[in-house]
Amino acid sequence: MSKFFALAIFAAMSLPLHSQQEQAKPEDTEVWQPEPKVVTPAAECGKPPSDAIVLFDGKNLDEWVSAQDRSQPAKWTIADGILVVSKTAGNIETKRAFHNYQFHMEWRVPENITGSGQARGNSGLFLASTGTGDAGYELQVLDSYNNKTYVNGMAASIYKQSIPLANPTRKPGQWQVYDVVWTAPTFNDDGSLKTPAYVTAFFNGVLVQNHFELKGETRYIGQPFYKKFDGAPIKLQAHGDKSEPLSFRNIWVRDIP
Ligand code: MG
Repeated sequence: MSKFFALAIFAAMSLPLHSQQEQAKPEDTEVWQPEPKVVTPAAECGKPPSDAIVLFDGKNLDEWVSAQDRSQPAKWTIADGILVVSKTAGNIETKRAFHNYQFHMEWRVPENITGSGQARGNSGLFLASTGTGDAGYELQVLDSYNNKTYVNGMAASIYKQSIPLANPTRKPGQWQVYDVVWTAPTFNDDGSLKTPAYVTAFFNGVLVQNHFELKGETRYIGQPFYKKFDGAPIKLQAHGDKSEPLSFRNIWVRDIP
């Protein structure tokens, strides 16, 4: 095509577009449907909004079961409205299965915490539990206040996959807050990965994971890989280290359609 013809075609295409823009009205780009559903926010920021599924509000563990044997109740301790890890009872997970969601949780290591590295206030939030033990996708819970460890295993890391963007850990004895957006992976019928998992997380209000694309399940040893699942419980870890146990409160989740 000659330069002349190319220019002529360009002119013919751009002129009508330009004149269309001049005739356009503000209403042309206004969208009125579908209207977002009304959600009543909590009076206090961090408390569950009206459409949240409350997983723990200080009263009971009705939403939870043992992760080792889902026919058994979750046997962690509740004291003064606070959930305390029972290391002998093992991991616990939700009765319900989730896909994509927004999640809120508050956790605390004791003021008199001992131990170091991974053996200091270790727990974990498994964004999808895909089996017993530590199978799944773990956002690490650990005392990372002046506690050196491998950085892809510190608090708010995606365990052995993603270093947090910052370390806003509060001192032991103070409440720490996780707010997480989880996009579950999807799979083809043959088990191959269709779309990966993503996580965005705030730790004490500070962005620590920004739409991170996971490489698969988090693994203690070896490289991560995906295994097909469709909907999974959320799991909390009772880590076997000898430090004093963690506490949790105000846990809720909102499904993302
Ligand atoms: Mg852990």
